[in-house]
Amino acid sequence: MLEIRSLEKRFDEIEVLRSIDLEVHRGELVFVIGPSGSGKSTMLRCCNRLEEPTSGAIFIEDRRITDIPRKDLDAMRQQVGMVFQSFNLYPHMSVLKNVVLAQKYALKRNRAAAEEKAMALLEQVGLAHKAQAMPSELSGGQQQRVAIARALALDPKVMLFDEPTSALDPELVGSVLKVMKDMKEQGMTMLVVSHEMAFAREAADRVVFMDGGVVVEQGPPEEIFGNPKSSRLREFLSHVS
Ligand code: ADP
Ligand code: MG
Repeated sequence: MLEIRSLEKRFDEIEVLRSIDLEVHRGELVFVIGPSGSGKSTMLRCCNRLEEPTSGAIFIEDRRITDIPRKDLDAMRQQVGMVFQSFNLYPHMSVLKNVVLAQKYALKRNRAAAEEKAMALLEQVGLAHKAQAMPSELSGGQQQRVAIARALALDPKVMLFDEPTSALDPELVGSVLKVMKDMKEQGMTMLVVSHEMAFAREAADRVVFMDGGVVVEQGPPEEIFGNPKSSRLREFLSHVS
């Protein structure tokens, strides 16, 4: 579903990604871990062209998205949902409107269809009763779940998460992880950067360890956490767990 081939990214002289190869199969939840500055966010951002790769190719299904002209990027971005650490809801719009808006503009769905879809998704993330609330009336965990519903409303093929729970108080993290787990059970393809190691052990099909702009090691969670091969991964795990 998502294939990254020989991806390189340089900012001026700094080589941030050095030939990354990574595949995420349909319905797979792939977890990316690694120290701060290792290039995790840059890699995710390349997958919807928020960042332009220096070289290499990225495919979504069989579409080579690294070749898409700039004017056509919006259509591609609908298919690659992204959720950030900061939820970025529109503060002056109700929860419902937040989930409806892009459907109307990007997909040209009529209002009734967009609202129906939005309500179904708000139900799925446990927030149907907050449809008329304003974002500021919600907790951080609730706002993040709305942000997830908003991304899902565009029927993406892949969902990218960049530290979706890092800004949340600890007691709110579980509700967001639960929604992500439900999405996986429904068959969504997901690439997740996160430090929630317990969640990775429980829900990830595969864990990818990045350091210094390369994939150092990847494998099933029980291998990565239980039997790390590289000294860099062992060192990293000794600091985080
Ligand atoms: P991570 O998400 O793993 O913490 P990032 O992808 O955010 O890592 O950053 C990797 C490296 O790229 C860092 O050294 C960072 O300073 C650098 N970097 C990221 N974005 C830019 C940018 N727009 N301009 C210059 N350097 C950047
Ligand atoms: Mg980051």
